[in-house]
Amino acid sequence: MSSPPVADFISREARFGARNYEPLGVVLSRGEGVFVWDTQGNRYLDCLSAYSAVDQGHCHPKILAAMVEQAGRLTLTSRAFHNDQLAPFYEEIAELTGSHKVLPMNSGAEAVESAIKSVRKWGYEVKGVPDGQAEIIVCANNFHGRTLGIVGFSTDAATREHFGPFAPGFKIIPFGDLAALEDAITPNTVAFLVEPIQGEAGVIIPPAGYFTGVRELCTAHDVMLILDEIQTGLGRTGKLLAEQHEGIEADVTLLGKALSGGFYPVSAVLSNNEVLGTLKPGQHGSTFGGNPLACAVARAALRVLVEEGMIENAAVQGERFLKGLRSIRANTVRDVRGRGLMLAVELNTEAGRARRYCEALQTEGILAKDTHEHTIHFAPPLVITSDQVDWALERIAATLTQDFA
Ligand SMILES: *Cc1c(COP(=O)(O)O)cnc(C)c1O
Repeated sequence: MSSPPVADFISREARFGARNYEPLGVVLSRGEGVFVWDTQGNRYLDCLSAYSAVDQGHCHPKILAAMVEQAGRLTLTSRAFHNDQLAPFYEEIAELTGSHKVLPMNSGAEAVESAIKSVRKWGYEVKGVPDGQAEIIVCANNFHGRTLGIVGFSTDAATREHFGPFAPGFKIIPFGDLAALEDAITPNTVAFLVEPIQGEAGVIIPPAGYFTGVRELCTAHDVMLILDEIQTGLGRTGKLLAEQHEGIEADVTLLGKALSGGFYPVSAVLSNNEVLGTLKPGQHGSTFGGNPLACAVARAALRVLVEEGMIENAAVQGERFLKGLRSIRANTVRDVRGRGLMLAVELNTEAGRARRYCEALQTEGILAKDTHEHTIHFAPPLVITSDQVDWALERIAATLTQDFA
């Protein structure tokens, strides 16, 4: 049976759907490991991994088995009752990450919103900030999600424009600038919310030592350090958490995306007793948060990440990928950045939009995503092999040296 032409899917989407995305012209229908296939049967190496949500590879058989088994037993109870998957999920994620308390949510943005609510409450009830005065410091070019609360402190015009009015209480400082953080802190500052590496901004890695300094400043001023590890966490950068590259510990850690291996939206706020302990019954919640299906899927997703050595593999293959990208001699390339398997190639402005390079890569069998006009983001599943990295590098090199004129 032949499937309808690609253009048919795309035009129907355009006709009925809100046009809030601009996808590449490929219609996917199957995935396995690092590969996806389109409706015509063409195979692609997935170098986006759904923005790091399918780090364990597409349709990982053990996560699939856990999901199917749980789906046939019990899917949702709401938190009005206990379920037998929540306690083991709490225990396992707390042990793995060294956290004391866990708040389960669904999307990444919900984890961010939940953290904001929790640290404000902590600020009023523990730190003693006057009610309604809590300040949270964030960074320019941040990406923390799409809810109203979050886009209000974005510095990206398209993200904010005509969505206001926005909630007050946020101060924006440059990323990677310790002096700016020190200047911005006041007695009413309750938290500093930051990505360890700015992902959507184009894989921006702060100067070495930045987070050591951030940790010291936050401790000195009794400010909660919230690390948004929704993209960097769970092995993407070659460590379980990106904070480990600088040997620091956040007060609040946000996880999402790969927490379910791409099967289901699962996110979590991880913290100590002091912050999450301020939340009392009736003060926060989510119908689907902590449901048995989510917990079973997340438990399996965490288990395979560790048992199958994916974090170590991300470190090894990430280094190979980065070295390979750096050795590409093309005058289209302005900068190459990366840590673990979170990588980016920034093009010269004369090279034109990154989008057309992504379209060219698609014809070579690689799916990657442009970000911010001139940058190509590479983030394959953490199960990628050396041969697959080399295969990708050959095609990326050919594409970047191609003459589009
Ligand atoms: C993707 C992402 C989010 C938002 O997650 P959603 O599940 O899309 O709401 C938040 N922070 C970072 C760093 C992200 O990469």
